[in-house]
Amino acid sequence: MTQSVGVIGLGAMGMGMARSLLAKGFSVAAFDLAPQAMAGAAEAGIVTHETPAGVIEASDVIVLSLPLASHVKATIEAGLAAGAFKTPKIIVDTSTSEASVSRELAAKLADIGHGFLDAPVSGGPQGAASGSLSVMLGGDAQWVAQAKPVLDALASRVLHVGPSGSGNIAKLVNNMLVACHMLTTAEGLRLAEASGLPAEDALSVINSATGRSALSEIHFPNWVMSGSFDSGFSAGLMRKDVRLALELAQESGCAMPVSELVASLWSEENSGVSDNQDFMLLGRVEAATEEK
Ligand code: NAD
Repeated sequence: MTQSVGVIGLGAMGMGMARSLLAKGFSVAAFDLAPQAMAGAAEAGIVTHETPAGVIEASDVIVLSLPLASHVKATIEAGLAAGAFKTPKIIVDTSTSEASVSRELAAKLADIGHGFLDAPVSGGPQGAASGSLSVMLGGDAQWVAQAKPVLDALASRVLHVGPSGSGNIAKLVNNMLVACHMLTTAEGLRLAEASGLPAEDALSVINSATGRSALSEIHFPNWVMSGSFDSGFSAGLMRKDVRLALELAQESGCAMPVSELVASLWSEENSGVSDNQDFMLLGRVEAATEEK
Protein backbone atom coordinates (compact mmCIF):
# COMPACT_ATOMS: atom_id res chain seq x y z
CA MET A 1 0.00 0.00 0.00
CA THR A 2 1.32 3.46 -0.87
CA GLN A 3 2.30 5.37 2.24
CA SER A 4 0.53 8.63 2.96
CA VAL A 5 3.06 11.40 3.40
CA GLY A 6 2.95 14.66 5.32
CA VAL A 7 5.18 17.65 4.72
CA ILE A 8 5.53 20.34 7.40
CA GLY A 9 7.37 23.48 6.28
CA LEU A 10 6.67 24.51 2.70
CA GLY A 11 9.55 26.88 1.99
CA ALA A 12 12.23 26.75 -0.70
CA MET A 13 12.88 23.07 0.08
CA GLY A 14 9.61 21.74 1.55
CA MET A 15 7.36 22.96 -1.27
CA GLY A 16 9.53 21.29 -3.90
CA MET A 17 9.58 18.05 -1.91
CA ALA A 18 5.79 18.11 -1.45
CA ARG A 19 5.19 18.72 -5.15
CA SER A 20 7.68 16.04 -6.17
CA LEU A 21 6.09 13.47 -3.82
CA LEU A 22 2.66 14.31 -5.23
CA ALA A 23 3.94 13.91 -8.79
CA LYS A 24 5.29 10.48 -7.85
CA GLY A 25 1.85 9.25 -6.73
CA PHE A 26 1.92 9.76 -2.96
CA SER A 27 -1.03 11.34 -1.24
CA VAL A 28 0.44 14.43 0.42
CA ALA A 29 -0.85 16.40 3.42
CA ALA A 30 0.91 19.60 4.42
CA PHE A 31 1.15 22.51 6.85
CA ASP A 32 3.09 25.77 6.95
CA LEU A 33 2.70 28.80 9.19
CA ALA A 34 2.67 31.10 6.14
CA PRO A 35 -0.76 31.48 4.50
CA GLN A 36 0.87 32.09 1.12
CA ALA A 37 2.68 28.75 1.27
CA MET A 38 -0.57 27.00 2.25
CA ALA A 39 -2.39 28.61 -0.69
CA GLY A 40 0.37 27.53 -3.11
CA ALA A 41 0.19 23.97 -1.79
CA ALA A 42 -3.60 23.79 -2.08
CA GLU A 43 -3.36 25.09 -5.65
CA ALA A 44 -0.91 22.28 -6.47
CA GLY A 45 -3.40 19.65 -5.22
CA ILE A 46 -1.81 19.07 -1.81
CA VAL A 47 -4.23 18.54 1.10
CA THR A 48 -3.55 21.33 3.60
CA HIS A 49 -4.29 21.01 7.32
CA GLU A 50 -4.85 23.80 9.81
CA THR A 51 -2.37 22.39 12.31
CA PRO A 52 0.85 20.36 12.20
CA ALA A 53 -0.92 17.76 14.37
CA GLY A 54 -3.51 17.32 11.60
CA VAL A 55 -0.73 16.45 9.15
CA ILE A 56 0.91 14.02 11.59
CA GLU A 57 -2.38 12.26 12.29
CA ALA A 58 -3.18 11.89 8.57
CA SER A 59 0.25 10.56 7.53
CA ASP A 60 2.44 7.45 7.88
CA VAL A 61 5.68 9.28 7.07
CA ILE A 62 6.06 12.95 7.99
CA VAL A 63 8.77 15.00 6.28
CA LEU A 64 9.86 18.10 8.20
CA SER A 65 11.60 20.99 6.42
CA LEU A 66 11.88 23.69 9.05
CA PRO A 67 14.44 26.42 9.73
CA LEU A 68 15.52 25.48 13.27
CA ALA A 69 15.63 22.56 15.70
CA SER A 70 13.32 24.54 18.02
CA HIS A 71 10.64 24.43 15.26
CA VAL A 72 11.14 20.69 14.87
CA LYS A 73 10.77 20.10 18.62
CA ALA A 74 7.70 22.33 18.85
CA THR A 75 6.04 20.55 15.91
CA ILE A 76 6.53 17.11 17.46
CA GLU A 77 5.43 18.33 20.91
CA ALA A 78 2.27 19.80 19.36
CA GLY A 79 1.56 16.47 17.65
CA LEU A 80 2.08 14.54 20.89
CA ALA A 81 -0.08 16.96 22.89
CA ALA A 82 -2.90 16.68 20.34
CA GLY A 83 -2.79 12.85 20.38
CA ALA A 84 -1.80 12.73 16.68
CA PHE A 85 0.55 9.75 17.12
CA LYS A 86 -2.25 7.16 17.24
CA THR A 87 -0.78 4.85 14.56
CA PRO A 88 2.97 4.19 14.02
CA LYS A 89 4.70 7.19 12.45
CA ILE A 90 8.12 7.86 10.98
CA ILE A 91 9.39 11.43 11.16
CA VAL A 92 11.94 12.22 8.43
CA ASP A 93 13.52 15.48 9.56
CA THR A 94 15.22 17.06 6.55
CA SER A 95 15.95 20.29 8.43
CA THR A 96 19.63 20.97 9.10
CA SER A 97 19.78 20.70 12.85
CA GLU A 98 21.76 19.80 15.96
CA ALA A 99 22.75 16.12 16.23
CA SER A 100 21.99 16.26 19.97
CA VAL A 101 18.38 17.30 19.30
CA SER A 102 17.98 14.51 16.72
CA ARG A 103 19.20 11.95 19.28
CA GLU A 104 16.85 13.32 21.94
CA LEU A 105 13.79 13.24 19.65
CA ALA A 106 14.63 9.79 18.25
CA ALA A 107 14.91 8.35 21.78
CA LYS A 108 11.70 10.01 22.91
CA LEU A 109 9.69 8.72 19.93
CA ALA A 110 11.29 5.26 19.98
CA ASP A 111 10.04 4.85 23.57
CA ILE A 112 6.46 5.12 22.34
CA GLY A 113 6.91 3.10 19.14
CA HIS A 114 7.61 5.75 16.51
CA GLY A 115 10.59 6.40 14.27
CA PHE A 116 12.66 9.55 13.89
CA LEU A 117 15.38 9.93 11.27
CA ASP A 118 17.66 12.93 11.01
CA ALA A 119 17.68 13.32 7.25
CA PRO A 120 19.35 16.59 6.23
CA VAL A 121 19.65 17.08 2.51
CA SER A 122 21.94 18.56 -0.10
CA GLY A 123 20.94 19.68 -3.58
CA GLY A 124 18.99 22.88 -2.98
CA PRO A 125 15.48 23.80 -4.11
CA GLN A 126 16.27 22.44 -7.59
CA GLY A 127 17.09 19.00 -6.15
CA ALA A 128 13.98 19.13 -3.92
CA ALA A 129 11.69 19.90 -6.86
CA SER A 130 13.16 17.18 -9.06
CA GLY A 131 13.47 14.47 -6.38
CA SER A 132 17.24 14.33 -6.88
CA LEU A 133 18.52 15.37 -3.45
CA SER A 134 21.27 13.64 -1.51
CA VAL A 135 19.91 12.65 1.90
CA MET A 136 22.20 11.89 4.86
CA LEU A 137 20.44 9.66 7.35
CA GLY A 138 20.97 9.11 11.03
CA GLY A 139 18.82 6.52 12.81
CA ASP A 140 17.83 2.89 13.13
CA ALA A 141 17.94 0.68 10.03
CA GLN A 142 14.35 -0.50 10.63
CA TRP A 143 13.02 3.05 10.18
CA VAL A 144 15.26 3.65 7.17
CA ALA A 145 13.84 0.50 5.55
CA GLN A 146 10.25 1.51 6.32
CA ALA A 147 10.72 5.06 5.02
CA LYS A 148 12.57 3.86 1.89
CA PRO A 149 9.80 4.51 -0.67
CA VAL A 150 9.56 8.14 0.48
CA LEU A 151 13.35 8.58 0.73
CA ASP A 152 13.79 7.16 -2.79
CA ALA A 153 11.18 9.60 -4.08
CA LEU A 154 12.95 12.57 -2.51
CA ALA A 155 16.54 11.70 -3.29
CA SER A 156 18.74 10.10 -5.90
CA ARG A 157 21.36 9.40 -3.22
CA VAL A 158 20.18 7.93 0.09
CA LEU A 159 23.15 7.66 2.44
CA HIS A 160 22.55 5.88 5.76
CA VAL A 161 25.45 7.38 7.67
CA GLY A 162 24.94 5.75 11.08
CA PRO A 163 22.94 6.02 14.32
CA SER A 164 20.77 8.97 15.27
CA GLY A 165 22.56 12.31 14.87
CA SER A 166 25.01 11.01 12.24
CA GLY A 167 23.11 12.59 9.36
CA ASN A 168 23.37 16.04 10.92
CA ILE A 169 27.05 15.56 11.79
CA ALA A 170 27.76 14.75 8.11
CA LYS A 171 25.64 17.68 6.91
CA LEU A 172 27.33 20.20 9.22
CA VAL A 173 30.78 19.04 8.10
CA ASN A 174 29.61 19.36 4.48
CA ASN A 175 28.16 22.84 4.93
CA MET A 176 31.19 24.12 6.85
CA LEU A 177 33.21 23.12 3.78
CA VAL A 178 30.70 24.91 1.54
CA ALA A 179 31.14 28.05 3.67
CA CYS A 180 34.93 27.79 3.31
CA HIS A 181 34.85 27.02 -0.43
CA MET A 182 32.56 29.98 -1.06
CA LEU A 183 35.07 32.45 0.39
CA THR A 184 38.22 30.78 -0.95
CA THR A 185 36.76 30.49 -4.46
CA ALA A 186 35.77 34.18 -4.47
CA GLU A 187 39.23 35.08 -3.16
CA GLY A 188 40.95 32.98 -5.85
CA LEU A 189 38.89 34.65 -8.58
CA ARG A 190 39.70 38.04 -7.08
CA LEU A 191 43.41 37.22 -7.26
CA ALA A 192 43.01 36.22 -10.92
CA GLU A 193 41.18 39.49 -11.76
CA ALA A 194 43.68 41.61 -9.82
CA SER A 195 46.54 39.95 -11.72
CA GLY A 196 45.02 40.48 -15.15
CA LEU A 197 43.29 37.11 -15.74
CA PRO A 198 39.48 37.46 -16.13
CA ALA A 199 37.56 35.61 -13.41
CA GLU A 200 35.55 33.62 -16.02
CA ASP A 201 38.78 32.31 -17.57
CA ALA A 202 40.24 31.44 -14.18
CA LEU A 203 37.03 29.60 -13.21
CA SER A 204 37.05 27.47 -16.33
CA VAL A 205 40.69 26.51 -15.69
CA ILE A 206 39.99 25.70 -12.02
CA ASN A 207 37.11 23.46 -13.13
CA SER A 208 39.55 21.44 -15.23
CA ALA A 209 42.12 21.28 -12.44
CA THR A 210 42.47 20.31 -8.80
CA GLY A 211 41.14 23.52 -7.22
CA ARG A 212 37.58 22.69 -8.28
CA SER A 213 34.63 21.96 -5.97
CA ALA A 214 30.84 21.84 -6.25
CA LEU A 215 31.00 25.59 -5.57
CA SER A 216 33.28 26.28 -8.55
CA GLU A 217 31.50 23.79 -10.82
CA ILE A 218 27.87 24.55 -10.00
CA HIS A 219 27.33 27.53 -7.72
CA PHE A 220 29.71 30.11 -9.16
CA PRO A 221 28.71 29.60 -12.83
CA ASN A 222 24.97 29.52 -12.03
CA TRP A 223 24.56 32.14 -9.34
CA VAL A 224 27.67 34.37 -9.17
CA MET A 225 29.11 34.80 -12.69
CA SER A 226 25.57 35.00 -14.08
CA GLY A 227 24.87 37.84 -11.60
CA SER A 228 21.58 36.21 -10.56
CA PHE A 229 22.36 35.45 -6.88
CA ASP A 230 19.12 33.46 -6.59
CA SER A 231 20.10 29.97 -5.46
CA GLY A 232 17.16 29.77 -3.03
CA PHE A 233 19.27 29.35 0.13
CA SER A 234 19.38 32.29 2.52
CA ALA A 235 22.55 33.63 4.12
CA GLY A 236 20.74 33.37 7.48
CA LEU A 237 20.24 29.61 7.15
CA MET A 238 23.85 29.13 6.06
CA ARG A 239 25.02 31.16 9.08
CA LYS A 240 22.97 28.79 11.24
CA ASP A 241 24.86 25.83 9.72
CA VAL A 242 28.24 27.50 10.33
CA ARG A 243 27.26 28.22 13.93
CA LEU A 244 26.06 24.64 14.48
CA ALA A 245 29.28 23.22 12.99
CA LEU A 246 31.36 25.30 15.39
CA GLU A 247 29.15 24.29 18.33
CA LEU A 248 29.63 20.65 17.33
CA ALA A 249 33.40 21.23 17.21
CA GLN A 250 33.28 22.67 20.72
CA GLU A 251 31.20 19.74 22.04
CA SER A 252 33.66 17.33 20.41
CA GLY A 253 36.79 19.15 21.55
CA CYS A 254 37.92 19.61 17.94
CA ALA A 255 40.02 22.68 17.07
CA MET A 256 38.76 24.46 13.92
CA PRO A 257 40.97 27.52 13.40
CA VAL A 258 40.22 27.92 9.68
CA SER A 259 36.46 27.48 10.20
CA GLU A 260 36.48 30.01 13.03
CA LEU A 261 38.03 32.61 10.75
CA VAL A 262 35.57 31.73 7.98
CA ALA A 263 32.67 32.04 10.44
CA SER A 264 33.74 35.55 11.38
CA LEU A 265 33.96 36.52 7.69
CA TRP A 266 30.43 35.09 7.19
CA SER A 267 28.91 37.41 9.83
CA GLU A 268 26.35 39.96 8.68
CA GLU A 269 28.61 42.73 9.95
CA ASN A 270 31.74 41.59 8.08
CA SER A 271 30.09 40.44 4.85
CA GLY A 272 27.47 43.18 4.41
CA VAL A 273 24.96 40.46 3.42
CA SER A 274 21.80 40.27 5.53
CA ASP A 275 20.17 37.07 6.74
CA ASN A 276 17.29 37.20 4.26
CA GLN A 277 19.52 37.70 1.21
CA ASP A 278 20.77 34.79 -0.94
CA PHE A 279 23.86 33.08 0.48
CA MET A 280 25.62 33.25 -2.91
CA LEU A 281 26.15 36.99 -2.33
CA LEU A 282 29.02 35.94 -0.05
CA GLY A 283 30.78 34.78 -3.25
CA ARG A 284 30.67 38.16 -5.01
CA VAL A 285 34.00 38.54 -6.75
CA GLU A 286 33.62 42.29 -7.34
CA ALA A 287 32.76 42.86 -3.65
CA ALA A 288 36.08 41.28 -2.75
CA THR A 289 37.84 43.35 -5.43
CA GLU A 290 36.45 46.60 -3.96
CA GLU A 291 38.38 45.96 -0.75
CA LYS A 292 41.70 46.62 -2.52
P1 NAD B 1 12.67 28.58 4.04
O1 NAD B 1 12.92 29.71 4.97
O2 NAD B 1 12.58 28.83 2.58
O3 NAD B 1 11.32 27.83 4.46
C1 NAD B 1 11.00 27.48 5.76
C2 NAD B 1 9.48 27.32 5.83
O4 NAD B 1 9.12 26.86 7.13
C3 NAD B 1 8.73 28.65 5.61
O5 NAD B 1 7.74 28.47 4.63
C4 NAD B 1 8.14 28.97 6.98
O6 NAD B 1 6.90 29.66 6.90
C5 NAD B 1 7.97 27.58 7.56
N1 NAD B 1 7.93 27.50 9.01
C6 NAD B 1 8.75 28.12 9.90
N2 NAD B 1 8.43 27.72 11.15
C7 NAD B 1 7.41 26.84 11.03
C8 NAD B 1 6.65 26.08 11.95
N3 NAD B 1 6.89 26.14 13.27
N4 NAD B 1 5.68 25.27 11.46
C9 NAD B 1 5.43 25.19 10.14
N5 NAD B 1 6.10 25.90 9.21
C10 NAD B 1 7.08 26.71 9.66
O7 NAD B 1 13.79 27.50 4.37
P2 NAD B 1 14.39 26.40 3.37
O8 NAD B 1 15.45 27.04 2.55
O9 NAD B 1 13.28 25.66 2.73
O10 NAD B 1 15.14 25.45 4.44
C11 NAD B 1 14.43 24.51 5.25
C12 NAD B 1 15.46 23.65 5.96
O11 NAD B 1 16.26 22.95 5.01
C13 NAD B 1 16.45 24.44 6.83
O12 NAD B 1 16.75 23.71 7.99
C14 NAD B 1 17.67 24.60 5.93
O13 NAD B 1 18.85 24.79 6.68
C15 NAD B 1 17.64 23.29 5.18
N6 NAD B 1 18.26 23.29 3.83
C16 NAD B 1 18.02 24.29 2.93
C17 NAD B 1 18.58 24.23 1.64
C18 NAD B 1 18.35 25.30 0.59
O14 NAD B 1 19.08 25.30 -0.42
N7 NAD B 1 17.39 26.20 0.75
C19 NAD B 1 19.40 23.14 1.29
C20 NAD B 1 19.61 22.13 2.23
C21 NAD B 1 19.03 22.21 3.49
